[in-house]
Amino acid sequence: MSQTSMHNLVLLGDSGVGKSCIVLRFVRGQFDPSSKVTVGASFLSQTIALQDSTTVKFEIWDTAGQERYSLAPLYYRGAAIAVVVYDITNPDSFNKAQYWVKVLFPDIVMALVGNKADLHEKREIQVQEGIDYAEKNGMFFIETSAKTADNINQLFEEIAKRLPRPST
Ligand code: GDP
Ligand code: MG
Repeated sequence: MSQTSMHNLVLLGDSGVGKSCIVLRFVRGQFDPSSKVTVGASFLSQTIALQDSTTVKFEIWDTAGQERYSLAPLYYRGAAIAVVVYDITNPDSFNKAQYWVKVLFPDIVMALVGNKADLHEKREIQVQEGIDYAEKNGMFFIETSAKTADNINQLFEEIAKRLPRPST
């Protein structure tokens, strides 16, 4: 029998970095360039199978309220995993990402994600900057593109691999 473990996951980061698009790409395999601003928080779930034939179910909270720093409800919901996203073309979003990691969620942030990696010619944050910051803070780092789907599944697979294994 294969085993499924369930994990709450929350995406954090500046408005416009692509959080909703990452979730939509992962859960539905779609990209909507005209995606609307997330109102409040929306909830989607997706299950992935790992190579050892266990499965991991992510219950994903895609928030918007964080732009107003009203994150208390995430604690009530028991968010176990936080993923902080920035936009590689936007230095301000990289600074904000560091704020989420250091100030707001030092204990639960697992991954740092540089999104919009397809926008090479507009890049402002080098890959190495992301790697260095993540390494210093014990997170894993990946660059993604919700637009091209590059590394989206890998992001969630890498998180799944780092979760505690269900005991048999
Ligand atoms: P959120 O506020 O963090 O949820 O950001 P959204 O998911 O709403 O995306 C904000 C904008 O960035 C939208 O116009 C998206 O089309 C665009 N976007 C999101 N991800 C990507 C990406 O990987 N590449 C590019 N080029 N645009 C993206
Ligand atoms: Mg959104």
